[in-house]
Amino acid sequence: MLDIRIEKTKNPKAKPDESKLGFGKIFTDHMFIMNYTEGQGWHDPRIVPYQDISLSPASMVFHYGQEMFEGLKAYRGADGKARLFRPIMNARRTNESNKRLVIPQLPEEDFVQAVSEIVRVDQDWIPTAPGTSLYIRPFIIATDDFLGVAPSKTYLFIIILSPSGAYYASGLEPVGIWIEDDYVRAVRGGMGFAKTGGNYAASLIAQVKAHDDGYSQVLWLDGVERKYIEEVGAMNIFFKIDGKIVTPMLNGSILPGITRNSVIELCKSWGMDVEERKVSVDELIEAQKTGKLEECFGSGTAAVISPVGKLRYKDDVMIINGGDIGPVSQKLYDTITGIQGGTVADPFDWVVVL
Ligand SMILES: *Cc1c(COP(=O)(O)O)cnc(C)c1O
Repeated sequence: MLDIRIEKTKNPKAKPDESKLGFGKIFTDHMFIMNYTEGQGWHDPRIVPYQDISLSPASMVFHYGQEMFEGLKAYRGADGKARLFRPIMNARRTNESNKRLVIPQLPEEDFVQAVSEIVRVDQDWIPTAPGTSLYIRPFIIATDDFLGVAPSKTYLFIIILSPSGAYYASGLEPVGIWIEDDYVRAVRGGMGFAKTGGNYAASLIAQVKAHDDGYSQVLWLDGVERKYIEEVGAMNIFFKIDGKIVTPMLNGSILPGITRNSVIELCKSWGMDVEERKVSVDELIEAQKTGKLEECFGSGTAAVISPVGKLRYKDDVMIINGGDIGPVSQKLYDTITGIQGGTVADPFDWVVVL
């Protein structure tokens, strides 16, 4: 149990207009911060006014990218209560990322306590309009001022909060996705399964290429054969092929999404066949030709479910379900957002009411 010192701001900011939130641009009044020092462990947990941090230009994170991050949300339920969705999963994934990046382990209960406490302090910042939420960004950075290549001996664990707007302003909207056949995001043995900035740095060039061509996101292929589907930039990917729900299996280069796990659990509970396995682009093209590619959607905390209406691979453009939202995508979206908002039963006990 952390003994968190709380210092409230003397200058609370004006709350933003909920119709103009966007994503990741507005920050709340406070932040959580805690230090790690080798020999001492994690120490000095505190909630302080949101502020700049001062670091030596030699801080290791700037040079070799030793850092990790998480992303989750707090939701304002119809009953006015604040809710978190499966925060223990983010705590576990934090330690998986930490292990890969040689960052010290953080006790799961401390992670959940820190997230819960900072959200409680700034709970008036959880927006109330439909589809809006308070995005929570925990992250850890290596702070030794040292240019040698080695794991840092000091770290900062910080949590910042950002009220975010409805991902879909006017209902679910299918997106176009670019299957990248040149650049790769990660390979097995690398750090694709970890939530770390370096994976995103590696992805930007393909994202720019896809945007220039009018596609909203990149779908990555495996880094070795460039044949098998991996995941989208910040989402996992699902297909409905001939009545079955199919998603690439976790193989070390794919991020194990919490929304992905929730989709699998829900589909199984509805009696659907769910397959986690290798999915090749060729299989998709073939399924599309024979009319068996029924739906495609991404899953992630930001959008929850993102229906895919169009997939491009080289010169092939596949239009899926006539470019419309499929029934499974819609049902998943309604169910998960309903559970998060407290309007749909929560049979798996996923929600933590603050
Ligand atoms: C965070 C992330 C996801 C989605 O994970 P969720 O836990 O569902 O939000 C998928 N892919 C990548 C690369 C990610 O960073």
